Amino acid sequence: MGGDPHISLQDEVNRIREMLRQREPDVREAIDMALTRAETAQDRDRIGDLLVSYSNYYSLIKRDPDRCIEYAERARPYFDMSIPRRASYYYGNLGINYHFFFRLPEAQAAYLTAIQHMERIESQTETESNMLATIYYNLYILFSFTDLAILDRRYLDKALELYKKNDHTPGIIFCYGAIINDLEKQDKIEEALQYSLERLRLAEETDNELQTGLSASLTGMLYAKQKNRELSQAYFARAHDIIFSKNVPTFQASYYDERARALLALGDCEEAIVFFHKALQQFKTTVPTALNLSKIYKLMSEAYERCGKLKEALEYQRKHSQTLLDNFKMDKVLYMGAVQKDFERERQERETEMLRQKNEEIQLYVTQLEQSNDELKQFAHAASHDLREPVRMIVSYAELLEMSLKDKVNPEQKEFLSYLKEGGKRINEMIAGILAFSKVHSHDELTEVDLNQTLQRVKENLRMVIAARHVEIDCARLPVVRSNSVLMIQLFQNLLSNAIKYNQSKTPRVAVTYTREGGFYKFCISDNGIGIDDKYRDSIFDMFSRLHNREHYSGSGIGLAICRKIVERMGGSIWNASNAENGTDFCFTLPAR
Ligand code: ADP
Repeated sequence: MGGDPHISLQDEVNRIREMLRQREPDVREAIDMALTRAETAQDRDRIGDLLVSYSNYYSLIKRDPDRCIEYAERARPYFDMSIPRRASYYYGNLGINYHFFFRLPEAQAAYLTAIQHMERIESQTETESNMLATIYYNLYILFSFTDLAILDRRYLDKALELYKKNDHTPGIIFCYGAIINDLEKQDKIEEALQYSLERLRLAEETDNELQTGLSASLTGMLYAKQKNRELSQAYFARAHDIIFSKNVPTFQASYYDERARALLALGDCEEAIVFFHKALQQFKTTVPTALNLSKIYKLMSEAYERCGKLKEALEYQRKHSQTLLDNFKMDKVLYMGAVQKDFERERQERETEMLRQKNEEIQLYVTQLEQSNDELKQFAHAASHDLREPVRMIVSYAELLEMSLKDKVNPEQKEFLSYLKEGGKRINEMIAGILAFSKVHSHDELTEVDLNQTLQRVKENLRMVIAARHVEIDCARLPVVRSNSVLMIQLFQNLLSNAIKYNQSKTPRVAVTYTREGGFYKFCISDNGIGIDDKYRDSIFDMFSRLHNREHYSGSGIGLAICRKIVERMGGSIWNASNAENGTDFCFTLPAR
């Protein structure tokens, strides 16, 4: 068992931790034996862990603050504080122990140190992440004791977020409890009730009987605040069955307390007073914390006042004030507030510093990107220029050859020559396309562009084909956008000419429409053309992507790549869909002014 040398020391430490969690009193022996082993093995880490276990034994089981802290102090030198994982474990634990004995400033200091170390752990295990959640939760609770609004709900929200991430239901239940308290304080009873029912559901779902009992009684109290006597009684009945079937005095104290508050809310002040006395009795023998007592005194004073017993009301009011005065020293609370402020300020400074570093890194990337962009542009420019010349030579000499050979070429050779010329022209088109593509970024002048004028220009440019194919263009009145006029002509012209080109209708029809959608205009160019297969909807925007062979439709597959580049450069997006005429709608967005 405890000293079984076949169990590794680490497993033994874990087993001891579990025994502590279960509050098993004979854990003491197990720790004794394990410590002897650790000392023999000179395992400093385990010695540290076991001394912490002693410390926890004295808080959880013996409730002896002095021994608890004494062992914590003895453990400290065994923890290598340069390792975030070890340091945060030590301080987190220390905080919880101080907290347990209501030494709030010490608890706060230990928690904050733990958080600092914890945040340095690169990849937290689930246990560590839950520990961090517990610390955030405890810090929140710690400040709610002071009744000063030092903290907002941020710490609680952080705790809840972590617990949710880890699916840690007991933690979520605790957080919900704190949220309900908070809502109740603000008189948001309906909202509190929703959380309370959810908390009850979670407790039931995980067979957590005591939390089910507590949640039921809290729900009963909230229903009473809504003056719903029947539901209130039903939930209290349920809570009573569970809580009194077990012998856990603190939970019974909470039951009496909630019950008394419910009765007070329903106006049954005499009965409320009876329950407050029961609660007070239980709290005094179990957890006579200043907080518990002062809260009850205050409510009792209220109950007595309602019953018209002013003398008693005054007496409990005095007790309330006295408890507060005795226990919550203002300077202590203010000191804690100051520590907290410093901590948050430092953290902010750290975050700002990190942000600054990140910014510098980004700046570096930007410079590097700009450089490689420039290089690429130069490359595209040079390549297209230098390529043009040899291509021009190929085409010219092919033409010359054809002319000089005249009738000496047979039909087959003639065909070969025409391939040669065609190929050369195609390379030329592609080069022009690449050049246009690489130039999109150089059109960086933005002005107010009246798209009606843009469309007018495009129609003039396409005049011949429009006339030849009897195209009907139906164009809405378009808005003015902030953009570049050259790029807008390119964009509309590419889309319009495609709409006509990929169209076999007798009368090709093209409609240009737009709508406003939030901060954007959405434009659509719709045709009654040949349509596009769904599986190519996205890929046709890629450079050189074409769906047809050149015999059917001429082109180089660059037009839509340019369109996408232009639209994205302006901050919009482009896509296409089929329409009711089995043609295609090409739509894109541009920021509205
Ligand atoms: P190009 O027209 O030079 O081939 P694009 O990039 O403009 O290059 O178009 C790419 C491909 O997308 C075209 O080859 C064609 O198959 C298809 N396409 C473009 N617009 C339309 C349209 N309105 N209707 C049907 N298909 C289209």
